[in-house]
Amino acid sequence: MAPAPGRTWAGNLAYSAEELVEPTSTGQLAEVMAGAGRVRLLGSRHSFNRIADTTGTLVGLRRLPAEVELDGERRVVRAGAGLTYGDVGARIQEQGWALHAMASLPHITVGGAVATGSHGSGDGAASLADGVSAVEIVTTEGAHVRLERGDADFGGAVVSLGMLGAVTVLELDVEPTYEVAQTVYEGLTWDRVVEDLDAVTGLGTSVSVFTDWRDPDRTTQVWVKERVDDPGSRRADPADLGLRPADGPRHMIRGGSPEHCTRQGGVPGPWLDRLPHFRMGFTPSAGDELQSEWLLPRRAVGPALDRLRRMSGELAGLAMSAEMRTVSRGRQWLDPAQEDSVAFHFTWRPAQPAVEAFLPRIEEGLDPLGARPHWGKLFDERALAGRVDDLYPRRGAFSELAARLDPRGALRNDFVERVGL
Ligand SMILES: Cc1cc2nc3c(=O)[nH]c(=O)nc-3n(C[C@H](O)[C@H](O)[C@H](O)COP(=O)(O)OP(=O)(O)OC[C@H]3O[C@@H](n4cnc5c(N)ncnc54)[C@H](O)[C@@H]3O)c2cc1C
Repeated sequence: MAPAPGRTWAGNLAYSAEELVEPTSTGQLAEVMAGAGRVRLLGSRHSFNRIADTTGTLVGLRRLPAEVELDGERRVVRAGAGLTYGDVGARIQEQGWALHAMASLPHITVGGAVATGSHGSGDGAASLADGVSAVEIVTTEGAHVRLERGDADFGGAVVSLGMLGAVTVLELDVEPTYEVAQTVYEGLTWDRVVEDLDAVTGLGTSVSVFTDWRDPDRTTQVWVKERVDDPGSRRADPADLGLRPADGPRHMIRGGSPEHCTRQGGVPGPWLDRLPHFRMGFTPSAGDELQSEWLLPRRAVGPALDRLRRMSGELAGLAMSAEMRTVSRGRQWLDPAQEDSVAFHFTWRPAQPAVEAFLPRIEEGLDPLGARPHWGKLFDERALAGRVDDLYPRRGAFSELAARLDPRGALRNDFVERVGL
């Protein structure tokens, strides 16, 4: 008997699908895709909304062969879409190669992460999808399609919200492996962030500014990840920004155990053990939290922080922690980083009705500044429908591509209807 579809990683939603099917070959996958009335792909369930949901068949890829094939000459790795970034990262690290970025958690699948435009952090780091050079898709007609960087349709192929078909394989850009040192600092004020954003985000290759919003004026921690082979990339001295190194390891959430976090204290280590915030060896099967994130044009940081600081009382009541990071402009048509962006992330307490009631209030403040929500987290989906054409100028081309690859609309679900796609 097919396993039940179950719930999201956060446990906040039960999938509405009738069944979960896990094919063991691409031939079987093609049959399932072509035979299902409504169908949707499922990754590692780490999205917080109904983006992955369907009333028909959910398809998981974890039983497909775990392909990881490195081509050092072309500087790409072919990876099965159902593998996690952590798994692929470990395999290429063994062979002396690396990726340009990682999300905060290595346990998300490659196919699921890039489909929603997931990203890490850094002025020079575009989203994970930007590091994809080719995708192979099994469509709802059972056809096999390969799209490569440079193809006319490639801009719609990676941040696809799962609307084109089952991505079976992705090719990811790789570079020679590198080491990263991570240091946590304290003492940064929000005024300083607004006055000198370039210096703050230039403290390292990847910089995350954390707060729990209990103090509207001060951040709680700044996590700086620096490539050891590129010390010249640092554009400011932490001390000049009023920062001092933390006196021990930290978790970004007050009371959280730092043993789940990647090594701090400036000790160099491989990129895949430092770029994520959480260790690969620590695998929570379910999370007692919710998340939202909005990406805004970098120039909007002042007014955005102004609005958030005015809501700090309410934010402190709902958020366990919040993170500000930067993402550089991506090339995909639906990448929320349509321009160099600053991203405001919130890890909410698991209080979905209260969080959902609060979302329109945040968006009232951030939307006029050009906020684009993370596709996989909680946001006011109906409000996006009225803005989606303005926010994504190539949305028409994306819808045309989706209609061509999925002419019967089998991959359409309530989520994509609500957000106006
Ligand atoms: C603890 C935690 C930390 C996170 N950290 C970050 C972060 O640092 N940065 C960030 O940007 N986001 C972050 N996220 C969000 C997360 O990256 C996204 O929600 C991501 O999409 C989850 O990937 P998944 O494999 O769980 O996909 P799922 O949630 O299972 O699916 C997401 C979408 O991808 C589609 N999909 C999945 N696999 C395929 C496939 N093979 N072919 C076609 N479509 C497919 C699904 O249909 C769905 O539309 C975090 C989430 C959690 C829970």
